[in-house]
Amino acid sequence: MFGAADALDDIALLRWYDSAGVDECVGETPVDRFAADAALKARRAEPAARPATRPTAPSARQAQARAAPPAPPPAAPAATAGAAAVAARAGTLDQLRQALEGFDGCPLRITATNTVFGEGAGDAALMVVGEAPGADEDRQGRPFCGVSGRLLDDMLASIGFDRTRAYITNVVPWRPPGNRKPTPAEVAVCVPFIERHVALVAPKVLLLVGGLAASTLLGTTEGITRLRGQWRSHSPAGGQHDIAAMPTFHPAYLLRNAEAKRLAWRDLLAVKARLEG
Ligand code: URA
Repeated sequence: MFGAADALDDIALLRWYDSAGVDECVGETPVDRFAADAALKARRAEPAARPATRPTAPSARQAQARAAPPAPPPAAPAATAGAAAVAARAGTLDQLRQALEGFDGCPLRITATNTVFGEGAGDAALMVVGEAPGADEDRQGRPFCGVSGRLLDDMLASIGFDRTRAYITNVVPWRPPGNRKPTPAEVAVCVPFIERHVALVAPKVLLLVGGLAASTLLGTTEGITRLRGQWRSHSPAGGQHDIAAMPTFHPAYLLRNAEAKRLAWRDLLAVKARLEG
């Protein structure tokens, strides 16, 4: 029999999951939605089979399912080409935001609550690019508004910046379920948007926080431990000129590895000097 003690156990288990960061209910096995879409497209391309018998009238449920099939996520290469075309048409940050909010080529937007676009000064000298929204960002629709965001605020303050003077965004604008790493296909679809984002803000310095932002915008497979602390340059598609880029550790990493903060501090001082130079 199910008693009060079982209910308390269940609540304790849920609390434990929550404290461990498990705050999404997803299936037990991963679903490759790109493959599912390819299969769906192949099925659609097949000629319709002739019914053997006269069709009976569809039930209300069947009719509804036929009228409104679930929108499938498109295959990765086509979606990336679509993203590039859509992003290239955006001539302002507002247009880019609208384009991104209307874009349905990335399956992550299906599970996300909000599109987390970016915030700050549209003409900022310093642009920070992170990985992807977490649970807080997804709920509020703002980048870096959770725990790691508070550390990012402190990092910015240490070099005389705040959110109103810098510009903050992410490579991927939709939260991956359960905070997993975005897949290469998901990142590829988002690249044209972040490149356009950078080109439109056209900062003097890019601060790339974490391995995914650094490898994506610098076009390298090198890890953040090797990349951090060295000036690189990013050439945004459609941008006017190359932009100085400083890769550094992600604030979430610094929260778990306090000893790395002194290296991040060094990187920030280099950024400050470059901005003042
Ligand atoms: N981590 C990121 O990379 N970006 C956010 O916006 C929040 C956490």
